[in-house]
Amino acid sequence: MKSAVPATLAERLPERAAIIDLAAVRHNVRHLVALAAGADVMAVVKADAYGHGALPVARAALEAGASWLGLAHICEALPLRAAGIDSPMLAWLHTIDSDFAAAVAANIDLGCSGWELPYIVAAAEALRTTARIHLKIDTGLGRNGCTPADWDEFVRRARQAELAGTVTVVGIFSHLAVADEPDRPETAEQLAAFATANAQAEAAGLRPSLRHIANSAGVLSRADTHFNLVRPGLALYGLSPFAGRTSESLGLRPVMTLRTVISLCKDVPAGQGVSYGLDYRTASASTLGLVPLGYADGIPRIATGGPVRVNGVTYPVVGRIAMDQMVIDLGYAEGAATDGSVIGTEALLFGPGDDGEASVDEWAAAAGTINYEVVTRISPRVPRVYRNTTPD
Ligand SMILES: *Cc1c(COP(=O)(O)O)cnc(C)c1O
Repeated sequence: MKSAVPATLAERLPERAAIIDLAAVRHNVRHLVALAAGADVMAVVKADAYGHGALPVARAALEAGASWLGLAHICEALPLRAAGIDSPMLAWLHTIDSDFAAAVAANIDLGCSGWELPYIVAAAEALRTTARIHLKIDTGLGRNGCTPADWDEFVRRARQAELAGTVTVVGIFSHLAVADEPDRPETAEQLAAFATANAQAEAAGLRPSLRHIANSAGVLSRADTHFNLVRPGLALYGLSPFAGRTSESLGLRPVMTLRTVISLCKDVPAGQGVSYGLDYRTASASTLGLVPLGYADGIPRIATGGPVRVNGVTYPVVGRIAMDQMVIDLGYAEGAATDGSVIGTEALLFGPGDDGEASVDEWAAAAGTINYEVVTRISPRVPRVYRNTTPD
């Protein structure tokens, strides 16, 4: 009979936990710093560090050699500054309702695609200070950034603001569209467009000290994207941006382990329906294990078949994933032991692989999505537990 007997109360984890290994963050950052070979590293910790927790991850990344933090929104940067982090920070996604004044007051650099410039100038004037901005050129991604057609006019306006003392153009940047597919030609086209944009900025009199375009895939696969600053996100978390390439093959260590304990275990007859819609029925008499994680915890509802590891055996989720729970058929897998209760036994969804648990990529495959989305959507109902918080 298998049931988890914790050695001491102090060792018990929350009943559902995303364990965040900060030593793995530091390892990944050191690896990226080495790969960037002289370029500075901006740790992208937007979206609560892709679900890992922005503040602890930011601190670990800075300890390990990252020198910048990257955020999408100003409102993501402000709490990090308020928590005492004094590294340079860049926020690049704004609306007319963004709090530019708060960002400028907190010395947060602002990405600027064009329309934001007067708003940033107004904030700097009101504060009688100079705002630090990075001009963004759309080199082909078709999302944020100034079009090449509007770029000349934009860099001229930025230079005028610089001469008026309201802004300093610290950087020119762009974002890659297909760097995760290294064989595609568009990355070289983007780099050519980036070179043109930089030359135009120079001709307008701008002398930005920073140029940056590389995401994780760029950092990991092509040195000609590095310039003097790189912006990895996913790789910090030990995950691979390339289809068919593992973390390990890239020298990365997955940071998040998602675990819980089996909350109920019961014997059922052949033909037992499982979960809403009764889409699954046991083939023979079996034992069902209830896993207390569902879509409210961020497990994609579509991910039936996703792997759950219990006592060294991996079971696919059977039946529909519900808001709070999902089910594994303990008689289903090869080598499964159906006798005895596993109530309270650890159930591992994904992790670095040390205990044979699945990777985030396997859950992404089960959900028809990418590893980015799986970790980022683990909800606040799952407590984050930080390991190796002290720098090594
Ligand atoms: C999210 C983001 C990144 C990081 O991308 P990864 O693929 O996670 O490395 C870098 N730059 C910008 C502008 C981003 O929005």
